Amino acid sequence: MALLERKVAVITGGARGIGLAIAEAFVAEGARVVLGDVDEDRAESAAKQLGDPSVALATRCDVTESAEVQALLRGAVDAFGSLDILVNNAGITRDATMRTMTEEQFDQVIGVHLKGCWHGTRHAAAIMREQRAGSIVNISSLSGKVGMVGQTNYSAAKAGIVGLTKAAAKELAHHGVRVNAIQPGLIRSAMTEALPERIWDEKVAQVPMRRVGEPREVASVALFYASAMSSYMTGTVAEVTGGRFM
Ligand code: NDP
Repeated sequence: MALLERKVAVITGGARGIGLAIAEAFVAEGARVVLGDVDEDRAESAAKQLGDPSVALATRCDVTESAEVQALLRGAVDAFGSLDILVNNAGITRDATMRTMTEEQFDQVIGVHLKGCWHGTRHAAAIMREQRAGSIVNISSLSGKVGMVGQTNYSAAKAGIVGLTKAAAKELAHHGVRVNAIQPGLIRSAMTEALPERIWDEKVAQVPMRRVGEPREVASVALFYASAMSSYMTGTVAEVTGGRFM
């Protein structure tokens, strides 16, 4: 039997990059998926690429808005009958050193990553505890482990996601709901391809495996956390970094 046979998964920020790779991995293992993304057109075409509407749907959702996240999750239950997996993946960067970062840039990043993740975890938990089963996977970052120059906003949000994951895992374990986090390192996506070549080369040089990671290499770890393969794991953080900053 496939690892996610008949399971229903919601992936925020699923229109492209790591989120889309996670959706592809889940569909390949028998899941039905709903992609929630601010970019509705891109989410629609990504869902079509994944399969017909009996397999993949797209919903416009801004994760900073509690009501939109709730509607996304309820919509998945209405369309497919349950909510078994949520991946809180939506993300943005607004990099700048503290000298130049605006308060708005700080708030935007905290809003999408930390508050967005809280909205998703909270609303998914309300559904999953009734089902007495579920797996929530939060996408943190290596930046939240070590702190990166120019990312006081992003590093704070991604470290916060680790705390949120562990607290939620403790609150939900006895309801049969697991919550785990992934800290990717340098992964090839639109977010990182925007980096200047010099910075990109410096970062690759810090990776013991001497290469960038591919979105599917994060997706396979999300699949592990989403499936019964990790049935006795909650509150954990997996580093998918090629050994960088181990
Ligand atoms: P991408 O920019 O390729 O994908 C992120 C997606 O999230 C985009 O479709 C984006 O839409 C969407 N999004 C942004 N804001 C919101 C919002 N408010 N509500 C819903 N969707 C939103 O990034 P990646 O695939 O690289 O990143 C995915 C996750 O992995 C992020 O959480 C990121 O922080 C994390 N990560 C990535 C690493 C990397 O090296 N790539 C390393 C460590 C962690 P739009 O394009 O319209 O903004």
